[in-house]
Amino acid sequence: MTTQDERQNKLIRPSHYITMDDIIREGNPTLRGVAERVALPLSNVDILLGEKMIQFLRNSQDPVMAEKLELRAGVGLAAPQLDISKRIIALLVPSEPKFDEEGNEIPSKEDYALNTVMYNARIISHSVEEAAIATGEGCLSVDREVPGYVVRHARVTIEYYDKNSEKKKIRLKGFHSMVPQHEIDHTDGIMFYDHIDPENPWKMREGMQIID
Ligand SMILES: [Zn+2]
Repeated sequence: MTTQDERQNKLIRPSHYITMDDIIREGNPTLRGVAERVALPLSNVDILLGEKMIQFLRNSQDPVMAEKLELRAGVGLAAPQLDISKRIIALLVPSEPKFDEEGNEIPSKEDYALNTVMYNARIISHSVEEAAIATGEGCLSVDREVPGYVVRHARVTIEYYDKNSEKKKIRLKGFHSMVPQHEIDHTDGIMFYDHIDPENPWKMREGMQIID
């Protein structure tokens, strides 16, 4: 058994909650490596790791659990951030709240716009148009602010395998396309600030869409 297998077995123990202590930070070479594809059909340990990653994101967005476990809020996590060099990403993006004419929140049927674990995810096509989040991006593996537009594709089509080892295809735009692009980058050893113009971080590129 490799040390990576041992680490993964520790992370998936039923009593274990992933915390910030399990997340490696910039400078660790695993974050700059190209992660391995996972074997299909998925092994139990890879399915369980995906579940733990979603559980982490859910806890990180829950004020009580986040305080108890001292978590930074996140909407995405990639296995390399846990020092597991595998192409596994978890996405948990809350739905936008909707309001009626009186300003009361309308309860939505879906709590999450994205709630999924993607195995061997890859971008199979993308728009020419670029996009960036207005406020820039952050990362659970980066303990500092790195300001600037993180220039990405405005629209992407992603092919991946779900937790049932079934091949899926999804088209995403706007913020919903930014999160998986950030996480897929982690499986290719790319950090968000690699996409920031070092000379002029807030340079407005022609035709770039700014996501509020
Ligand atoms: Zn990140």
